[in-house]
Parts: sequence; structure tokens; C-alpha cells
Amino acid sequence: MAGKIINNLGSLPVVFVSGNGSILADDQGKKYIDFVSGIGVNCLGHNHPALVKAVCDQAAKQIHISNYYNSDTGLACAEALLSRTKMDKVFFGNSGAEANEAAIKLARKFGSQSDAKEGKQAGTRHVIVTLQKSFHGRTLATLAATGQEKFHAPAFAPYIAGFRHIDANDFSALETAFDGTVCAFFMEVVQGEGGVNLVDREWARAACAAAKKAGALVMIDEVQTGVGRTGTFLACEQLGLDPDVVTLAKGIAGGVPMGACLSKGAAADVFVAGDHQSTFGGNPLACAASLAVMAELAKPGFLSKAAEKGDYIRAKIAAWKLPCIREIRGRGLMVGVDIDSPASDIQKACLGFPGSGGRGLCISTAGVQTLRFLPPLVVTMEEIDEGLEILHSVLTGSNSNQ
Ligand SMILES: *Cc1c(COP(=O)(O)O)cnc(C)c1O
Repeated sequence: MAGKIINNLGSLPVVFVSGNGSILADDQGKKYIDFVSGIGVNCLGHNHPALVKAVCDQAAKQIHISNYYNSDTGLACAEALLSRTKMDKVFFGNSGAEANEAAIKLARKFGSQSDAKEGKQAGTRHVIVTLQKSFHGRTLATLAATGQEKFHAPAFAPYIAGFRHIDANDFSALETAFDGTVCAFFMEVVQGEGGVNLVDREWARAACAAAKKAGALVMIDEVQTGVGRTGTFLACEQLGLDPDVVTLAKGIAGGVPMGACLSKGAAADVFVAGDHQSTFGGNPLACAASLAVMAELAKPGFLSKAAEKGDYIRAKIAAWKLPCIREIRGRGLMVGVDIDSPASDIQKACLGFPGSGGRGLCISTAGVQTLRFLPPLVVTMEEIDEGLEILHSVLTGSNSNQ
């Protein structure tokens, strides 16, 4: 049955039927500690009472109305999101790729406006600078933005032109990256899909300054890092960055599909009516879910606790001092662990653990030899300990088999 669904990452042999907090249950009744949370989406875990209530109440009121009109829930969500992020305007879509497509279109139009102002030939300022090892989505433009060769398979060519990829944390790259053809600099501050790679604070600030100096927009892809994942609402807050555009998706509505492209200042004036839209975007159901997520995250101590849990995970894994572990990285509850064997083998062994009865563990991967943990932000210390115990057993078991 599962083989009939195209859009999956390669089927793991499990069918989930329900979830509660950070625990999932499959169709055989087996339970799992969930360190994936739907790839950083279920930030409030599964079956969170406030989120369930918000979705059910909204479904009973109205589910969809289209962008011809405003909804009270949509307006409230926009207001909450903009005040939380100190941005001016929001475009609502349904996914990370769609939020990033909006950002790319916004950057291109900003570039053509700049060309007109600067008396340059139309189309001069069209280049968008992105990072090597980045990930920005699976549409043809966002794949082109993505700085990983494996996402540029010739079978899907031609891709959208006009992206320039530079190495993160390389100061010399900044000397030539930003010229008069660049309309935007677009980056993740922790690269999720690319391996949980941290962009250094000083480099990020220098890169953003260089972009602004060259007349380009600074755009941050917070699709994975945003909504508390790294311990602050936006990860770029921790680096002291001042972006013109921020994109969000994944955790923004706790599991209901939603994406957002936020803009500020001159960038907020680029799109006019008719430039861009999406039928489902700003759908009241997703907006109600997003409001519930933002209300939970605003509770005192919620985000700092998430940050502490991430630090705890990294410290605990480091304390194992296992020879199979090469490096531990991350910010907040975004954790990457490099190991000396295929990460997908460990992922499968954790899922199948302990063989019969007892709980398994869901973890994800980012690249061939990197394990990635994105637990719900509400994960408990007990769940962390139990999940890590499973991982430890699997890692040491697989070692003794060698
Ligand atoms: C997941 C992800 C995307 C794509 O989001 P979709 O909702 O799958 O389209 C884009 N950028 C980053 C940083 C992501 O992690």
C-alpha cells in the first residue's frame, strides 16, 4: 500500500496510527520515541490539547475562504507573526518551498526596481547568492537555489538560472560574491538538510553587511530553524542579523501545512496586488493552528527550556565518548551527529529496536553519515533520556558486531 505514495523519502517499514506528545504508535501497537517530529514540524508534539482545540474550533467556524477576502483568523495570525518577528508584511503559502519561491520572486522584482533606479539595463540585478550545502526546497527554483550537486540531477534540467553558491564561513568568498548583479543573499543560519552545519555568527554578520552594502536584500530561510527550533523564535535573532525577508514553514502551524514569507522595509513594498498569490495561502485552519503554536511558544520559559534540552542532548552524547561518533553539532533542539557508518542503518536499527516489545526510536538523517534529531519542542527530559538510551544501545551494539 505504502508503495503507491510517491512523495516520501524512501519507505521505512512502519505505519503510524496515532501519537501523543513525543510518543508515536504504529498499527501493531508498538510505541516509539519521536525525535523526528515530522521533520521539525510537530513542535508541540502529537495531539497537543491547545492545538487540537484550535483546529477543531476553527474547522467548525470556517476552513477556507480564498485570498479574495480576509478572515478574522488570518488577520490575527498575520498580526501575531509580524509582531513576534518585527517584520512588516507576510505572504502566506503552504510549504517551505512555496515560501522560498515567494522570496525568490520578491528578490527578482526588487532587483529590477533597483536596475530602473540605478539606470542599469533591465535584468542586470538578478543574481541570488546562496550557500554551498544549503537546502531551500524541491521546486525548480528552490532546487537551483540549493547548493548541493545531488539536488541538480540532469534529468530535471533546465533549472532556473541566476544563483551563485558560496562557501559558508569563508571570508575570502565575500570579496567577490556581491557585485552589481546581485539582488539578494539567501541563507539558512543552521543548514538542516545539508548536515546541521552552523554558520558562524561573525561570518553571517559580515556576509549580510556585504550584501546590504552592494544593494542586495538579506533573506533568511528559517523554514527549519524558525518557530523555536533553535531556542529563539527565529534563529537569526541569536546571530544579531537584520534580515529584509524571512521564510518560515515546517513548525509554523504545528503540523497543518503552512508557509510564510515575511518582509520588512523596502522589501515589504515590492509585491503589489496581482504579483503573487496562492489559493490555499492564509487558510483560516492553518492560521488558527499557527496562532495556537505561537501562544504556546510565548509562554514564559518555553523557548529557553527548548534550548536547554538541546544542550543537554549534545552534552549527553558527547559524554558517551563513543569512538563511532565523529562530531556533534547544533543549536537548540536541532542536533546533528556525525558517525563513522551509514546513518540510514542506525536510523533503521533505532526504529526496529528492541526487536520485540518495548519502544523504538525515530531519528532522521541529514547526509550519508549524519544523524539528525528534531524532537518536539515539548519533549520531556525522561523521553530524551529514554531515546538516547536506545541510540546508545544501537550504536554500541552495531560496534560490537563489527
Ligand atoms: C524543509 C525545508 C525547505 C522546504 O520545505 P517544504 O515544506 O518541504 O517545501 C526549505 N528550506 C529549508 C531550510 C528546509 O529545511
